[in-house]
Amino acid sequence: KNVQEFERLETVSENSSTGRSRILVFVRLRPLAKKEKEAGSRCCVRILNRRDVYLTEFAHENDYLRLKRLRGRHFTFDASFPDNATQQDVYLTTTAELVEAVLQGRNGSVFCYGATGAGKTYTMLGTVENPGVMVLAIKDLFTKIRQRSSDGNHAVHLSYLEVYNETVRDLLSPGRPLVLREDKQGIVAAGLTQYRAYSTDEVMALLQQGNLNRTTEPTRVNETSSRSHAILQVVVEYRVKDASMNVVNRVGKLSLIDLAGSERALATDQRTLRSLEGANINRSLLALSSCINALVEGKKHIPYRNSKLTQLLKDSLGGACNTVMIANISPSNLSFGETQNTLHWADRAKEIRTKACEVNEELHQVPESETDQAKLLLELQKEN
Ligand code: ADP
Ligand code: MG
Repeated sequence: KNVQEFERLETVSENSSTGRSRILVFVRLRPLAKKEKEAGSRCCVRILNRRDVYLTEFAHENDYLRLKRLRGRHFTFDASFPDNATQQDVYLTTTAELVEAVLQGRNGSVFCYGATGAGKTYTMLGTVENPGVMVLAIKDLFTKIRQRSSDGNHAVHLSYLEVYNETVRDLLSPGRPLVLREDKQGIVAAGLTQYRAYSTDEVMALLQQGNLNRTTEPTRVNETSSRSHAILQVVVEYRVKDASMNVVNRVGKLSLIDLAGSERALATDQRTLRSLEGANINRSLLALSSCINALVEGKKHIPYRNSKLTQLLKDSLGGACNTVMIANISPSNLSFGETQNTLHWADRAKEIRTKACEVNEELHQVPESETDQAKLLLELQKEN
């Protein structure tokens, strides 16, 4: 385990020195659900080792011809998590490094991709007993801030938003749709709630409440929508003294994204009723795949403007940002097609190169009356 983590750290540091880096791609297999077992489904995915995934199409036992034509496919990722991987395992391998970078004023983003029911929300949000990446990242962030509270002054702000049917909504304060605007930091949702967070305890409750605000599908009353994309933005502002004793502001942003189900809209029920919705969900995910394709092919024009989702992810995909993709898959042969599709896109995403991830830093604007450096440092210490 340690060897692998070491290898990965090497890759990342090598990349940052060359000024180029690529998206890191992980796969997480979830356990076979009780329902799937009862339906007689079998496992068609094997995690061979810490990196390799093997997909086989299981024929029914009485289907002798198909059994003979079993075709396996083999994939390699930055890490592949078996169905007994813990939330902590997943967090440490995929996201912990990004949290460290965010504290240094860099941007990072993690997104979960996969069909409905594949384990995206479990990975991102998790449960109270087994909190996921969103919660573990914030917990780790607070621990790290506490450890270094003597070198500066931090503020952590959270925003949680949804893209549903090409409409952007604030999950922390539901109300009218938000308008996307371009400013010097990129695309922002105007009027989005920035919640100042002080401790981990409040965050889980806040996120769970936010998740309840996600648009629910009319036909699946008890389920959170599989058609909504949820984005948690964690902004860390850090006022610190640099090497030449200037006071600077560093701002790092971590985006944690629970994407809508990637299965084909046509495969779901009630397609006429929801054709508009279906078209839009396709628009966002389709736009995402066109952007991925354009990035992989090194095209000059990347069609971010084609959907709200890709506008919001612009920084994360092609910008100066550390980006991680977690592809979630079910082991069941009943989901074979979806799993194959997810692994295909995950495999493709490995080719995306991103720009160098720079530190967002500017000199702290000092009010005229306080230009005296000593006074300022004193103030800094007081604030701690
Ligand atoms: P998605 O968000 O991709 O639609 P969910 O995260 O809601 O899927 O997962 C579907 C079901 O499987 C949920 O009941 C969830 O608790 C369970 N599940 C998903 N991943 C795991 C896992 N790694 N371990 C245990 N249960 C899981
Ligand atoms: Mg979900």
